[in-house]
Amino acid sequence: MDVYILAIESSCDETSMAVVKNGCEVISLSITTQMDTHAKFGGVVPEIASRMHTEVITLVLEDCLEKANMKIEEMDAIAVTNKPGLTGSLMVGVEAAKTLAFLYNKPLIAVNHLIGHIYANNLESKMEYPLLALIVSGGHTELLIMEDDYKFKRLGETQDDAIGEAFDKVARVMGLSYPGGPSIEALAKTGKHTYELPKPVKEQDYNFSYSGLKSAVINLVNKEKKQKKEINKADLACSFQEVAIDELVRKVELALKNTNIKKLVVAGGVSANKYLKAKMEELCKKYQASLLIPRMLYCTDNAAMIGAAAYPKYLRKEFSDYSLDVSSSADICS
Ligand code: AMP
Ligand code: MG
Repeated sequence: MDVYILAIESSCDETSMAVVKNGCEVISLSITTQMDTHAKFGGVVPEIASRMHTEVITLVLEDCLEKANMKIEEMDAIAVTNKPGLTGSLMVGVEAAKTLAFLYNKPLIAVNHLIGHIYANNLESKMEYPLLALIVSGGHTELLIMEDDYKFKRLGETQDDAIGEAFDKVARVMGLSYPGGPSIEALAKTGKHTYELPKPVKEQDYNFSYSGLKSAVINLVNKEKKQKKEINKADLACSFQEVAIDELVRKVELALKNTNIKKLVVAGGVSANKYLKAKMEELCKKYQASLLIPRMLYCTDNAAMIGAAAYPKYLRKEFSDYSLDVSSSADICS
């Protein structure tokens, strides 16, 4: 029997709902973003974010159901992101999900946002295990082995800043618009790798570090400013992007070599980066591994990925009760 899940995502600055069939088919997807509002402040302002979620959540629900041409009565479950993310933002989605689950007597499924990013790949083609999963987002940089559905083993993670955070902060100091990732990528296209920047971590383990690289760029920009010298922004964007992403490639290569796993999944907002995609494609070709990166729409925050990640939990009847809480942090492996 087909399973229809109504999924809700509101962990940061996107309010999104989706109807997902059998964990892999997107029947409808609605997303509203607050990006323009937060761009004025150079980053997400949590209080504004939660207020804006409250303002639009009912409209997003109506739009999503209308697009699906379905009613809530026809859903088999309500799924929602409850961690990690901004506490106030998460609460808006979780309260909406609880209300709908209670009113329509539907099971409630809690989904970890990061696991959602990985399961976004099931919207493209079914993930086969074991696989290597690289999560690259605004708050996380992790390399995992996924042995089966919901079975994760961490190989490494960032010791300080996440890669997306480094993109955002570097963009800010260079005077580029928020979010920094797409701004740096666009500018990097017209530049060359001319600036010598420190490679993040030299050790042969799977951990990452981005604060040294970020600080090096910030120091360089400030020094040039003081000396009234012009920096070549395009070249600096290109140099930073290549060093940051080449480090991901180096760690993934180590993992492909050591584990002999032949599948790589890349997830999270930074996976929208085309330089990253090209480098990972090249690497996978070298190791005869297959690469799965969702299309742009499913790379960035969306509720369809939450519906995909909720499906295995639905099959196992892993439901939450109305005491479901939110959490700003979350460990994928516990
Ligand atoms: P997420 O945390 O998964 O919502 O992803 C948001 C992060 O992805 C932010 O730090 C963005 O700057 C980053 N990002 C989005 N698009 C790109 C891109 N094309 N290149 C690099 N980073 C990106
Ligand atoms: Mg995200």
